[in-house]
Amino acid sequence: MESKQETCLHCGGSGQIPSWRLGTLFGIPQTTQTCPRCHGTGKK
Ligand SMILES: [Zn+2]
Repeated sequence: MESKQETCLHCGGSGQIPSWRLGTLFGIPQTTQTCPRCHGTGKK
């Protein structure tokens, strides 16, 4: 039984991925960029 999800695995379905900037000591994502795979749709 396979659960076929259309959720983009690259961004987890959010459509955006956190972009860590160099120099951020706390590792907090300062910005987000549109997922290059799903182009922000969050789906495959
Ligand atoms: Zn994606």
